[in-house]
Amino acid sequence: MDEKSIYFDHAATTPVAPEVKEEMDPYFDKYFGNPSSLYSLAMDSSRAVTRAREKVADFLGADNEREIIFTSGGTESDNLAVKGTAMALKDKGKHIITSEIEHHAVLHTCQYLEDNLDFEVTYLPVDDEGFVDPQDLKKAIRPDTVLITIMMANNEIGTIQPIAKLGQIAHSNDIIFHTDAVQSVAKVPVDVDDLNVDLLSLSAHKFNGPKGIGALYVRQGTKLLPQMQGGAQEKKRRAGTENVPGIVGLRAALELNEKKERQEDIQRIIYLRDKIINKIEDNIDASILNGPRGDKRLPGNVNFCFRYIEGESMLLNLDMKGIAASSGSACTSGSLEPSHVLLALGRSHEVAHGSLRVSLNHSNTEKEVDYFLEELPKIVDKLRDMSPLYEG
Ligand SMILES: *Cc1c(COP(=O)(O)O)cnc(C)c1O
Repeated sequence: MDEKSIYFDHAATTPVAPEVKEEMDPYFDKYFGNPSSLYSLAMDSSRAVTRAREKVADFLGADNEREIIFTSGGTESDNLAVKGTAMALKDKGKHIITSEIEHHAVLHTCQYLEDNLDFEVTYLPVDDEGFVDPQDLKKAIRPDTVLITIMMANNEIGTIQPIAKLGQIAHSNDIIFHTDAVQSVAKVPVDVDDLNVDLLSLSAHKFNGPKGIGALYVRQGTKLLPQMQGGAQEKKRRAGTENVPGIVGLRAALELNEKKERQEDIQRIIYLRDKIINKIEDNIDASILNGPRGDKRLPGNVNFCFRYIEGESMLLNLDMKGIAASSGSACTSGSLEPSHVLLALGRSHEVAHGSLRVSLNHSNTEKEVDYFLEELPKIVDKLRDMSPLYEG
């Protein structure tokens, strides 16, 4: 086995699939026209954008393609959804409800609205597996609540929220509901009507599409103030010349993931996930699984805390064995702050520091998983032998 090439960090990003890259290629130079121009070269671009918009709408079960706005990715979609609705509805009320375990693209946007525009934000707690309690949401709703934003699946611990239920609570109170579905798209069914959502964020680079392209679904009739001023692109909701190759890549990546073989392969990913979870629990003591088991967990997500060791040391040692994984989220690594998600589960700072996330995708094999399961206990033993806190 090539020990230098095991990639277990697909929740951070994925490689562009060869068939996606191939479909994008002509849109860099052959069909380079600006979709807004009026000659036939531009028609090729604008047709490609329309085709992609129809695909995204169809994939999400949207009523029509006008409900799709292309953005630069998950972060921009989250910003546009949260700031865009908050600012459009500020005369109605200035209260937002979210959860403690959101991605920073939502959390920091909420904090920005609190700090600069006098919004008030309720951060709902989660239980020890990362679930929001629908009763807590009901209790948090106030007459001035204008937006509820709760992620569909968590990027660190893989918890899949009861979004349909939460969305129903929002709608029965006439409140706009947004979900960050960046980790869910192409992994679990995502249908905007089944989920009762008004806004939904997705990002291509999490499912073998290119970086820097995403979309925001906006249910027809939902008030949204644009956050980018300029040209009239995206029906005046997101100015700027369209990223045509990226948009083509997003469409191609969705089509790739819709293929029957790829859908069926998710069962194999779940099997590999559960093999890792079970073997770690059997073979490494003082290991704590973060997030739930079973179908309420993302297919490719594994996240453990190992007491008495630092996540960073584990990552360096795994890297020396050719295995790329992550600790906390990519956005917080490099800082010494423990993950806000693990703290919200009730883990202590000390325990939260020893976390390891493995995120699998279609490219991973059982051979890779077995190699990892052979190396990990050795690394944990070695690091614990060096730890003054461990008396194993
Ligand atoms: C990756 C991620 C984002 C950010 O998406 P980008 O396209 O990288 O900006 C937002 N939310 C979640 C849950 C993510 O996993």
